[in-house]
Amino acid sequence: MDRKPTNVQKITTRKTHPSPAFARRMHTTPKSFIREILKVTENPEIISFAGGLPNPGLIDVEGLAQAAAEVFASDGRTALQYSTTEGYIPLRRFIADRYKKRLGLEISPDEILITNGSQQCLDLIGKVLIDPGDKILIERPGYLGAIQVFSLYEPVFIPVNLDADGPDVAAFESAVSGYDPKLFYCIPNSQNPSGITYSAACRKTCAGILKNTSTIIVEDDAYGELQFQGKSLPPLKKYLPDQTILTGSFSKIMAPGMRLGWVCAPREIMDQLVIAKQASDLHSNYLSQRIASCYLEESDLDAHVGRIRATYREQANTMIDAMQDALSEDVSWSQPKGGMFVWVTLPVGCPAMDVFTEALKKQVAVLPGIPFYVDGGGTDTLRLNFSNATPARITEGIERLGKVLQSFNQ
Ligand code: PMP
Repeated sequence: MDRKPTNVQKITTRKTHPSPAFARRMHTTPKSFIREILKVTENPEIISFAGGLPNPGLIDVEGLAQAAAEVFASDGRTALQYSTTEGYIPLRRFIADRYKKRLGLEISPDEILITNGSQQCLDLIGKVLIDPGDKILIERPGYLGAIQVFSLYEPVFIPVNLDADGPDVAAFESAVSGYDPKLFYCIPNSQNPSGITYSAACRKTCAGILKNTSTIIVEDDAYGELQFQGKSLPPLKKYLPDQTILTGSFSKIMAPGMRLGWVCAPREIMDQLVIAKQASDLHSNYLSQRIASCYLEESDLDAHVGRIRATYREQANTMIDAMQDALSEDVSWSQPKGGMFVWVTLPVGCPAMDVFTEALKKQVAVLPGIPFYVDGGGTDTLRLNFSNATPARITEGIERLGKVLQSFNQ
């Protein structure tokens, strides 16, 4: 058989075909702007504040390697088999126990589903709860990854501005009563991108407004363990347990490449999430779950998280100090109490996209805030990540950014 011409023919045919008729949802789903930018910043010469990578020095490679060796040696055949959709029970028990210990939350392991990173929780929630046209209340600015994944289910986003201590309460109240949203998606701890943490009072007020409504809260707690200033505050789940879906992640406290997250949901919702998860990928990577579980049994997670917090506090302080020295008074920024980001508001005459382009010429990558806005806006904002650069590079990068901003004033 002459295979070569057949292949050539196939390639030619593909090239001349019109685009496939993509599903309607693909027309409403934005490309991840961050992924596009990260492609530009892969060059190691560039000081990148654009991504959202945890500090690689804080991944306990030796500890994880040891746990992996133990799992392979003691139970390799089971660890490499198919497994249950809900996830490895000892890992779910560990998560439940930690909620009890850290936050006094009573969550049964049955109410926890292990997912492929916490990003998958958002996809499953979309599958189970969002019909086209459903209204979703979202923070403004809001997490780009949630905007992207929820967009697949064609909702209508209702953005609510964030103040320094949480959503603008008056706007929040009127959006809840005016739109009767299906979901309220929020990140009360070290919000991505703004870096703000809701105050205790604001959490209570938001919960009070949502009580006795049919709105389901999707509380994304990807950064709850990374708080380096002040004590942990109660999650919204504590106020409205039957109305809240809480998501969490091992990405920032263990290793993002293991792709392990979880969702805690009231049983009725959990049953549906399990069906959606089964249909989607049968179960999360079982080997990863077993290694994580073994690692958590044998290591001191509190001590490890303590090291992460101390390092991030230092990196954040370095960035803020450098900004105080290098940026003019008309630039303002958030004071993060945790997480991985500082949110910058630029002065008039410094469009974020132009700042991005000029900064890149000086080998510094910053992230314009625009894609975090579902309704336009953010053209004068930047998100800066401090967790993935050494203090020396943070200072150097901010000095270069200062020079770029000065050049706009000349
Ligand atoms: N939620 C938020 C707020 C995030 O910032 C991220 C990661 N950037 C995620 C969810 C998803 O993280 P993962 O899937 O690694 O748990």
